[in-house]
Amino acid sequence: MTTKFGLKHVQAIAPYVGGRPISEVAREYGLDETKIIKLASNENPLGMPQSARDAMLEAASDLGRYPDSNGFELKRLLSSRLGVPADWITLGNGSNDILELAARAVAQSGDEIVFSHHAFAVYPLATQAIGARSVEVAATPSFGHDLPAMLQAVKESSGKAKLVFVANPNNPTGTYLGAQEIEAFLEAVPSNVAVVLDEAYNEYLPQEQRYDAIAWVKRFPNMILSRSFSKAYGLAGLRIGYGIAQPELTDLLNRIRQPFNVNSLAQAAAIAAFQDTEFLKKGFELNRDGYLQLTKAFKEMNLTYLPSSGNFVLVKVGNDDGAGMRINLELLKRGIIVRPVGNYGLPQWLRISIGLPEENEAFINALRDILAQA
Ligand SMILES: *Cc1c(COP(=O)(O)O)cnc(C)c1O
Repeated sequence: MTTKFGLKHVQAIAPYVGGRPISEVAREYGLDETKIIKLASNENPLGMPQSARDAMLEAASDLGRYPDSNGFELKRLLSSRLGVPADWITLGNGSNDILELAARAVAQSGDEIVFSHHAFAVYPLATQAIGARSVEVAATPSFGHDLPAMLQAVKESSGKAKLVFVANPNNPTGTYLGAQEIEAFLEAVPSNVAVVLDEAYNEYLPQEQRYDAIAWVKRFPNMILSRSFSKAYGLAGLRIGYGIAQPELTDLLNRIRQPFNVNSLAQAAAIAAFQDTEFLKKGFELNRDGYLQLTKAFKEMNLTYLPSSGNFVLVKVGNDDGAGMRINLELLKRGIIVRPVGNYGLPQWLRISIGLPEENEAFINALRDILAQA
């Protein structure tokens, strides 16, 4: 892009491409909007919890006023449930906000930010937006983060690396890092380099993969733990997430955030959703069953998929670099929206968000049909 306005590093940014909205696909392919199935943005197939809907309706009567800039009630709740002081918590306009605040708080033009190949698309965006340099470290052969290589990249940066993004599980690969690996990494990273541990899908981890990230926040003053209400809590449209870090880093994030970065409805809904353990449990079980449903079908179709710890599965739909886009187009024509991941360096794969049983079924049938014709 060339324009006489703006900074070079801003002009160089490739804008984020999200899952395609249902209404847009309906228009483009002449389909009935109500019949379209969207498995493209890792949203909760249950929608938002009723408890959050009720809380928002009540909060709606106060929308003439600014939100609580400090999110007192929500922070108090998170603090008591998670066992960290409230002043270790930063609320964000989506956890995306926390990722960007972290980058802006610790890095600037000329600095480096380290993350893995095939990692979440927001990491390079947050890096480029401040004119810092992305150091993208090759993934392991199984598409996961190579933490020893990422550590090496930090050490070789001769002090330029200021921040590392680690996603666990990662999106779009669903890959998972064990607690020992992460802990060894945190112990080895220089203490003046910040580490964001992005746990947007934490609530979907099966019991045997759970670990205590809060204990690490207490131990490592350079760590920021990031969590989201968009996925398991079903509040993607409201934009709310939070970061947990010791006061030194939290204070920095607080200085650069917008004063009212989290709106009143989002705060009210998050308070309700966080306490709605029944909704969380239902979503967890639905996800676990949907994962088995999808992966069973992939095995039957002889398709390679990556074991996923999130609410989505990455599946390889062909052996040429046009495969992802080609199969995606055929799915769109049948009213099914999934996510091509060529922009993540995975052009032979598609990412499927786990939906309701009947949505998964419709996707599986469409994919079978398409592959049988190919
Ligand atoms: C979805 C996602 C997020 C953030 O989502 P928000 O809606 O901004 O909270 C963060 N990290 C990863 C890896 C994600 O997939």
